[in-house]
Amino acid sequence: MTAPAPAEPVAPAAPATSADVVVVGAGTAGAVLASYAAKTGASVVLLEAGPDPGPWQPLSWPADLIDADRVATSHDWGYSGPAADGRVLPFPRARVMGGCSSHNGCTQSIGWRGDWDAWGASSRDWSSAELDRHRAHAIKRLRIQQPTVADLQPFQRAFLDAAGAAGLPHRDDLLDPDGGQGVAISPVNAPESVRWNSAFAYLDPVRDCLNLTVRANALADRIELTGRPGRAATAAAVIAVIDGRRTRIRAGQVILCAGVYGSAEILLRSGIGPAPDLRRLGIPVAANLPGVGANLHDHPTAIRSFAAAPSLARELDHLNRVPDEQVVAKLSTGQDPTGAPYDLHVFPWTERDPSVAGGWRVVVPVALIHPASRGALRLRSADPAVRSHADHAFLSDPTDTERLAAGLTGLDPILANLPLGEELGEPPSRPAAAWLRRNHEHYWHPAGTCAMGGGPHAVVDETGTVHGLANVRIADASVFPDVPRATTAFPTVLVAEHLAGLAFGPAPAPPAPSAPQPSAG
Ligand SMILES: Cc1cc2nc3c(=O)[nH]c(=O)nc-3n(C[C@H](O)[C@H](O)[C@H](O)COP(=O)(O)OP(=O)(O)OC[C@H]3O[C@@H](n4cnc5c(N)ncnc54)[C@H](O)[C@@H]3O)c2cc1C
Repeated sequence: MTAPAPAEPVAPAAPATSADVVVVGAGTAGAVLASYAAKTGASVVLLEAGPDPGPWQPLSWPADLIDADRVATSHDWGYSGPAADGRVLPFPRARVMGGCSSHNGCTQSIGWRGDWDAWGASSRDWSSAELDRHRAHAIKRLRIQQPTVADLQPFQRAFLDAAGAAGLPHRDDLLDPDGGQGVAISPVNAPESVRWNSAFAYLDPVRDCLNLTVRANALADRIELTGRPGRAATAAAVIAVIDGRRTRIRAGQVILCAGVYGSAEILLRSGIGPAPDLRRLGIPVAANLPGVGANLHDHPTAIRSFAAAPSLARELDHLNRVPDEQVVAKLSTGQDPTGAPYDLHVFPWTERDPSVAGGWRVVVPVALIHPASRGALRLRSADPAVRSHADHAFLSDPTDTERLAAGLTGLDPILANLPLGEELGEPPSRPAAAWLRRNHEHYWHPAGTCAMGGGPHAVVDETGTVHGLANVRIADASVFPDVPRATTAFPTVLVAEHLAGLAFGPAPAPPAPSAPQPSAG
């Protein structure tokens, strides 16, 4: 695709200092919540810490945020934290309208029905049937399409064949919660290779609503609460730094969609969280909720990298378009405690690398997609400009190491049939535990810091309402008690749709499509 010119941000809207609903974070989930809230006619302020390049237009957004063929790297928050051996791993998070849906790989999957039902077991408002209700609407909004074999670049086609030769059936069932083991072509939200982010999908159709004010470059600091110290009852306002000015926005209702790190940080800065941690930072305790920031986890990965075989490199060189990621294999270690049909994803990609013979690097990662390890997010300071300490405690549960090691072994029969050159990086040693600690990475899917449920470590109930605070809800990936056995964008949208429906009523009708039109595929 042609690279659009860098965008000028749209002119900022006039500051609104009062609203019925304040939504914090215009990311994957926040765009959904704002769209539902705006349709009720209530006054809505949507705060986003990053810039707003405006509604979709072909040349209006920065090129990397639009190009669905590779993961974007601009507009990053700059989070990082420890790997299992203490290495510092980057944790990319997008600070821009659309949030991580403006950054991500665009591959969509839903996970396994059994996990959604287990999550919902204690609540009448949660079941996989709820998911089924939202699935078709979200697919339509995000313009998700199922590509075919003819759409695959040569390495991805080779991977599909190699997985088949290794005994995995080809089944394109990544959006089917009853899907099983096999290899699948990823459904993508990428009409004409444009990353169709959540802001285009959900926010653009309501941007003209006079009751909606979108404020970019607006960093939410904390929620101002009324009630007795230690027993906060109601949110009165959101305190934010907007275009460098501290601003108080009176709020009838606050909905946090600032993502797995951001939503927990805002609660903690508001004095809602583990009391000892808050006191250590001099933050007055409004409500002692020990689960805020706890339960942080992600899918750990083990990665094998190779130079592409010379014939493959030559083929890739001659293509106009080389999408990085297109195929996902679902494998089972046979050790998952739930008895689910799969607990591993293999999600290969290619990237240009001038330091490699032939100029192309081939990466074959395996992810453990139902991990047991749990870490925590902790504030370093009450200052909203300071990033928190995010420790996912990767591989701290020994069963994760065992299962990821089994995944590494499971790669061998697939690798045997791929067009690969020399291995790059340290080849795995067996037994793999030490190698995994030195080399593991992650799948970009952190979750769980404001977990839903009723136990002592739960933060929100099944409607997304923060325990003890009647008018504060959370509706993003932080509420997953257990990260879905899937890539997390589509599950986040489904959860956001569900919680938005509970808060504001049924889904607004999908708009007529605007350019780019979905390609046939
Ligand atoms: C590099 C990368 C690749 C990925 N690839 C895939 C993929 O291919 N498929 C897939 O399914 N998933 C993928 N994911 C994961 C997926 O995109 C995320 O899990 C999902 O988008 C999270 O949605 P969210 O609404 O919880 O958070 P986000 O989308 O991150 O939204 C949070 C928003 O809140 C804003 N915010 C945060 N703090 C504040 C504050 N204090 N004040 C105001 N605003 C604030 C942020 O700027 C952001 O816009 C990827 C993620 C990354 C980073």
